[in-house]
Amino acid sequence: MKTPFVSKDQVEEIVKTYPTPFHIYYEKGIRENAKKMYKAFSWNKGFKEYFAVKATPNPTILKILHECGCGTDCSSMAELVMSEKCGITGNDVMFSSNDTPAEEFAYAAKIGATINLDDITHIDMLKETCGIPKRISCRFNPGGKFAIANTIMDNPGDAKYGMTPDQIIEAYKRLKEEGAEEFGMHAFLASNTVTNDYYPTLAKILFEMAVKIKEETGVKLSFINLSGGIGIPYKPDQEGNDIEKIGEEVHKVFDEILVPAGMGDVAIYTESGRFMLAPYGHLVTKAIHEKHIYKEYIGVDACAANLMRPAMYDAYHHITVLGKEDQPLDHKYDITGSLCENNDKFAKDRMLPKIDMGDYLVIHDTGAHGFAMGYNYNGRLWSAELLLREDGSVVQIRRPETIEDYFATLDGFWDIKL
Ligand SMILES: *Cc1c(COP(=O)(O)O)cnc(C)c1O
Repeated sequence: MKTPFVSKDQVEEIVKTYPTPFHIYYEKGIRENAKKMYKAFSWNKGFKEYFAVKATPNPTILKILHECGCGTDCSSMAELVMSEKCGITGNDVMFSSNDTPAEEFAYAAKIGATINLDDITHIDMLKETCGIPKRISCRFNPGGKFAIANTIMDNPGDAKYGMTPDQIIEAYKRLKEEGAEEFGMHAFLASNTVTNDYYPTLAKILFEMAVKIKEETGVKLSFINLSGGIGIPYKPDQEGNDIEKIGEEVHKVFDEILVPAGMGDVAIYTESGRFMLAPYGHLVTKAIHEKHIYKEYIGVDACAANLMRPAMYDAYHHITVLGKEDQPLDHKYDITGSLCENNDKFAKDRMLPKIDMGDYLVIHDTGAHGFAMGYNYNGRLWSAELLLREDGSVVQIRRPETIEDYFATLDGFWDIKL
């Protein structure tokens, strides 16, 4: 059972000022979840969550998370600039990019971000661009398949990220020679994991590697970044991760591997995006058409340009028809947007209550990788982003894109006034 954090009455009030479609975020949920995350890792003195900006690149969201103790994980110029403009700089910023342009390394260094090198060849590039900083991190890729128990979770051997074991050892040696003094390691091996075993399994691999690095290079890591990948239950019958338990299990592996190696002071970092924000965002949209052909269709005023995950990954997003929460799910619909693309469907063959024109639909779990993955195909515009504050008020934290915005990069094309 998934319950929206807004009611029909609330949405009817909100649309008087901010018409659909819009993404809305739930401040109370975001703050409470961030607190849980910190509590789960409170056993680790240096613990820090670096929120993956790409998941929800909005300054208001970054500032809320910063107040909860989080930093930012950036991977592009725009994300670095946004973080800096929010007053989040220095050790509060992780720059975990790949295929990185030189000017982005330079900017990251300028704002004091911790650069997480994706490849050994980036050492020379960084040296030439802005010099090797005192604090630096390297991204690890163990290759092969990544399995938890006997289940293959992902295929690092096929992923473009990170350095091989030999390369990463070489990288730490070189970085030390070049004057680096504080070192970290990072890896991201599986995405949207809905199992409490992901971080502990990853931690074991990284902790063992950290001990090996110390033995072979004399470099003692000061932080290990478990990165993102903690998933959420998009489907109502899925059980979510228990972050408290995940924290405890990582603690056990830490005590088992790092403490005996004299590395009990290593700080644990995370770079969660989805886990921090996805459940605390809804895409709210209105039913504007019904169509009865070979299937039953409901056309809404949002489309894949506002939420790409169903079209791109065939991802499930739960849908609630507001005001009809208690009605029987006795109608089978495809819920569609207006793109001239048949994959523009928020749901296929979904059992829902009877939908009438003008009904408001909540598409759940759009708080991360939702708005952020938007695009302008078919000339569709970006929606607004709203925030439901803790006191129940609603503020707009990004206005909707206008058609003038859409044409703004076409210099002198024409002066649009609708
Ligand atoms: C995308 C990404 C994250 C966040 O991933 P989630 O699945 O949202 O937790 C963290 N770190 C890096 C380097 C990423 O690319």
